[in-house]
Amino acid sequence: MVVLITGASRGIGAATAKFFAGHGHCVAVNYKENEEAALSVVDAIRDAGGIANAYRADVSDPAAVTKMTESVVSDFGTIDILVNNAGVSADGLIQETEDADYAYVMDTNVKGAFNTCRAVLPLMIGKKHGKVVNVASMWGEVGASNEVLYSMSKAAIIGLTKALAKEVGPSGIRVNCVSPGVINTDMNASYSEEDIDALKAEAPLGTIGSPEDVASTIYFLCSDEADFITGQNIGVNGGLVI
Ligand code: NAP
Repeated sequence: MVVLITGASRGIGAATAKFFAGHGHCVAVNYKENEEAALSVVDAIRDAGGIANAYRADVSDPAAVTKMTESVVSDFGTIDILVNNAGVSADGLIQETEDADYAYVMDTNVKGAFNTCRAVLPLMIGKKHGKVVNVASMWGEVGASNEVLYSMSKAAIIGLTKALAKEVGPSGIRVNCVSPGVINTDMNASYSEEDIDALKAEAPLGTIGSPEDVASTIYFLCSDEADFITGQNIGVNGGLVI
């Protein structure tokens, strides 16, 4: 199978790329700017005997997404699985949020996933086969104070997942999403050790998650074992949201 993973140069996306490649899939590693990181993911996959290429594209730009889709199809022949993982976060009270912050978060997190779905789904519909997994967040489920923008962008991803699952289910395509809790990636690099300890203490499982915890859930949702699951939002959060 050919898998396109957005935002796969770092964090959850990079772990997901390696996980799929380790299970024999050809992986298209998308990134926005960090070419060195994307190429190191590709190198790690190839060194382990897998198949991967890197594709630079800002997912918020429809033309760039179309071009990337065409390049992946030209290299690998098709796209069977789409993982919409690229995302950015933003902190701040609503009254301090600038229009530019709104555009940055919503264009990346929401328009980005919309753009890739719109570009890739015709390929899947034509084959009557395909899987999409979107990466939302527990804050899209329960909302976070001081992160209204991020929370609303991730709630939109859950809505996108449910509507799209209804729309393309009859075409044999499953669409699901995962809502990670606190995962150890660059996105949380600003947290102090005390913040992390407090978050661990709050979680029933007493720990934060790894990118691999999310990667394995995404992989499961794309596997044959999940063939009767669509339109669902799966929490990967150590029990922070129950
Ligand atoms: P990360 O380590 O900050 O990595 C973000 C990735 O997204 C990078 O590969 C980055 O590419 C890419 N990216 C950002 N903007 C992009 C754009 N416009 N077009 C294409 N790629 C873009 O993030 P992460 O923590 O792994 O998060 C991955 C996803 O999980 C996000 O959707 C995030 O909201 C969600 N999530 C994370 C957590 C958490 O605790 N970490 C919790 C819940 C949900 P470059 O390297 O080129 O910049």
